Amino acid sequence: MLSRLLPDRDMSEIPENFLPIESIGIEDIDNLFESKCFSRHASQAIDQLITYLGDRSTRGLALTDPAGIRAAVTRLTLGGQTSDTAEHDRKLAEIVDLYLQTGIQVYSPGYMGRQFSGPFPVTAVVDMVSAIATQPASFYEAGALPCVVERVMSEEFNRFLGFPSDRFTMFTTSGGSLANLTALLAARGRRYPQAWGEGMGETDCCPAIAVSSDVHYSITRAAGILGIGENRLVRLPLDHARRITPAGAREALDAAAARGLDVFCIVANAGSTSFGAIDPLDELADMAAERGIWLHVDGSHGGSLIVSDRLRPRLAGLNRADSLTLDAHKTMFVPAACTLLFYRDRDQATAAFRQEASYVFENTSDVYSEYNSADRNFECTKRPMIMSLWALWAMYGRTAIAEKLEALCDMTRKAHGILSVAPDFVPLHLPETNILCFRYLPNEQLSPKALGALQTEIRSRVRARGRFFISKVDIDGVSALRLVLMNHRITTDHIRQMLDEVRAVALTIREEFPQSEEI
Ligand SMILES: *Cc1c(COP(=O)(O)O)cnc(C)c1O
Repeated sequence: MLSRLLPDRDMSEIPENFLPIESIGIEDIDNLFESKCFSRHASQAIDQLITYLGDRSTRGLALTDPAGIRAAVTRLTLGGQTSDTAEHDRKLAEIVDLYLQTGIQVYSPGYMGRQFSGPFPVTAVVDMVSAIATQPASFYEAGALPCVVERVMSEEFNRFLGFPSDRFTMFTTSGGSLANLTALLAARGRRYPQAWGEGMGETDCCPAIAVSSDVHYSITRAAGILGIGENRLVRLPLDHARRITPAGAREALDAAAARGLDVFCIVANAGSTSFGAIDPLDELADMAAERGIWLHVDGSHGGSLIVSDRLRPRLAGLNRADSLTLDAHKTMFVPAACTLLFYRDRDQATAAFRQEASYVFENTSDVYSEYNSADRNFECTKRPMIMSLWALWAMYGRTAIAEKLEALCDMTRKAHGILSVAPDFVPLHLPETNILCFRYLPNEQLSPKALGALQTEIRSRVRARGRFFISKVDIDGVSALRLVLMNHRITTDHIRQMLDEVRAVALTIREEFPQSEEI
């Protein structure tokens, strides 16, 4: 009953046109499930999406004042609930409009600043089918097709990954952060099998995790959740391109052992968030093997390079990882969240959650329950996220993903070339993926602090102008600008226009702050 939406509210707050519906009635509820009603709503929303997808204008982030959005949301929430069908349609149209106009504009070539992707539209169509069909993917009984598809797709991916085909496993999780946490739980479970039941209190040694100094926050967060402690992370040193240096890693691991730390897991990046840097996986795998340490590769951003014959060599050594996270919602361009978590040895996957629950986990497996993943993934109800990725793959093969990714990495290299010859910019690394960090250099010499502050101010003002959306990262305490090219429609012209925008903004800042150190 819609009138129940506002149980204890002071009615004076409610707009005048608010007409509470006393009772909607089960027949009217049933009407909402009628195909006529669904068809009207769906075709109307699809028309709006067609217009949205057709808009190729260069625009950044529409960073609307939250007060404005709040007013619109409040009006829609409180105003005008009626039993009038036309009114329902109008409201849905308004909701979809508001949705599409606010926030990040992932399909525009002005969007160059984050890892969110504009999915292949067909994958969104499948996602809608998933939402209606509601077949949770943790249990074969409930979601037979997604469970089987996960298995088939794991074999598809393993053609490029090269894990032992009789031992490896893959299942989906809701996001890279959760996949990372799950893999670290499994790594902990291998070294400390008693930890699940008894907790970590009884262990004499000091469990620790070694990570790239450019580790994603989901890993440091996982260390906190696992009771390892964020401060007990051993940070491995990086080279100029922000990759772990093997010699530095060896030294850091030796020093950690000398301090009495028991490093049970190394986390390497295959595409770090800030630089897109790929750590030397082969060397790290050697180190992990020598010392009996689990190697987890956080390939949330760059793991998908394996599907491209041209880009795959950048991930040499990946087949030696114990576990791998790969975000298909980032660089495989499907709706979020869709993450693939691989283990080289499927027996290790069950070490993450050593649990029994008679209502879901079978003690004796049968032909159906063998396809369950609930004992290995965190989620109970899990969206059948694999379906949109599978449909894309089934229709176009890996080629659609591989070629889009290659185009993005190529364009990022071209952007690097443009920056390299510009006197007023400096690229900070040769991009290994589709991420590139750089700085704007004014004519006059600035201290590192002022130079960093200038980049931060540039990024805010570029965003506020609304034409381009770029991001910012801090590198050794000094800010830099960051591009993440997720849209294959971005051309070198767009890159040049974006740099002109940075220049224009930088000039206005220099005029406002003539004392170079002030900013
Ligand atoms: C994006 C990212 C994550 C987090 O993944 P979500 O899917 O956003 O939870 C983890 N690690 C790296 C390197 C990432 O780039």
